[in-house]
Amino acid sequence: MANDNLKHTDWQLIINEIANEVRPLLNEGKVADYIPELANVDSNAFGISICMLDGRAFSCGDAHTKFSVQSISKVFSLTKAFSILKDDLWKRVGKEPSGNPFNSLIQLENENGKPRNPFINAGAIVVADCVVSNTEDSLNTIIDFIRELACNKSIKMNQAMFRSEKAFGHRNAALAHFMKSYGNIEADVDEVLDFYFGHCSLSMSCEDVARAFLFLANHGVHPVNKRRYLTASQSKRINSLLLTCGTYDAAGDFAFRVGMPGKSGVGGGIAAIIPGLLSICVWSPGLDKYGNSLAGVKALELFTTKTGISIF
Ligand code: GLN
Repeated sequence: MANDNLKHTDWQLIINEIANEVRPLLNEGKVADYIPELANVDSNAFGISICMLDGRAFSCGDAHTKFSVQSISKVFSLTKAFSILKDDLWKRVGKEPSGNPFNSLIQLENENGKPRNPFINAGAIVVADCVVSNTEDSLNTIIDFIRELACNKSIKMNQAMFRSEKAFGHRNAALAHFMKSYGNIEADVDEVLDFYFGHCSLSMSCEDVARAFLFLANHGVHPVNKRRYLTASQSKRINSLLLTCGTYDAAGDFAFRVGMPGKSGVGGGIAAIIPGLLSICVWSPGLDKYGNSLAGVKALELFTTKTGISIF
């Protein structure tokens, strides 16, 4: 699986080739506009970065441009909540794929306010509550945590994005209040939503995101700062959830085409990992009907096809 026979030059050539091959697809996807600020983006952008556990990094295209990480940030808040609550977390949120869109309300009533998994919005809002209820100055705590993972102290929130998410976040507010009625939100709903919108509206580049995912490719230990963020078992569990739930109701298709655990966001980013070898982030704002980057999924599919490396 972690076959690293490729030479330095091969990695760069492969991502250059991928960038060329997906170019015709850049205008096929649709940029998200249900959060109006998300539409303020160049729909032709495409970036790709790979970070290897041995310290090498390769980038191509708009890999240094900051984009809105959106749901990719759910992985960082889950990491924080899991390290605080350990397995008690799973009393509050499930571990099954939802088979429903990321912002769906339908399952919640049938399942008594316990979201299917931590990556649909309802699940990420419960995870947000776990962090808010167990940390001081929660939003700054999570932002500092993400800066540490990405080895970049300059990462910050896009304030216009945050205001836009908050002003148009009626569905998320509905999910949060609904879960509060079942007793599955402990803290004040507005505080939980501010935390959730706050981490979703962080701006990061492909390189930042790829670096921030390295610990998941290394059994919970970040190879750059050598810190352990999760036990090997917890890291395995998050990767399993990424494979089964990280791209919502397209997770089956993503696993089939790509063969890596990955997390998408409606800003057009997708982060993925190969345990023992590397992390990768692609970004292209045009989305498919499931809310995953259309060219981004194709780029990752090409990556595992061309390199012959996947988790299988
Ligand atoms: N902040 C976005 C929302 O709550 C995140 C969704 C996503 O990236 N899929 O709708």
